Amino acid sequence: MPSYKTIHTQLDALKLPAKYHPCTWCGLTASDWAYQWDDPAEISESGQVWSENTTSYAPMCRDCHKSFDRAHAAYGPERFPYEAARRQEAAYAAVNDERRKAEAESRAVARNAALSFIEAEEARMKRGRRLADPPAVKEPLARMSRGYRLNTLEAGQR
Ligand SMILES: [Zn+2]
Repeated sequence: MPSYKTIHTQLDALKLPAKYHPCTWCGLTASDWAYQWDDPAEISESGQVWSENTTSYAPMCRDCHKSFDRAHAAYGPERFPYEAARRQEAAYAAVNDERRKAEAESRAVARNAALSFIEAEEARMKRGRRLADPPAVKEPLARMSRGYRLNTLEAGQR
């Protein structure tokens, strides 16, 4: 059974870290892969609840994520979807379009910079130069570059 940490590593590799996505509620830059409370087979262990299903996560900023989790804790299954929808609408309305646009532009810049860094590191490794700690660096790099390429293909860029 994958642990909470494993699933988050997988999410970053498959979908890129949340910070490269807009929050699904307010549209500002996300910080967390937030569990959506929608998996009947969710796992609850040592005070943490998570899903093994990567489609049960959405990128959310910290404030919206907290608000979403608080709504889940406060309301029963009947009421929760309505309360979540109400909070989502309020979160979106609280942010103006210029700010969403500015954050989208800076995310694109950060993402391209990260991709350039990864490509430079990979090229450096191909030339046979040793890194300080090869396996510790190499593995996450390979995972991330796969994620970036997949995601840029999906987004229709490059
Ligand atoms: Zn948000």
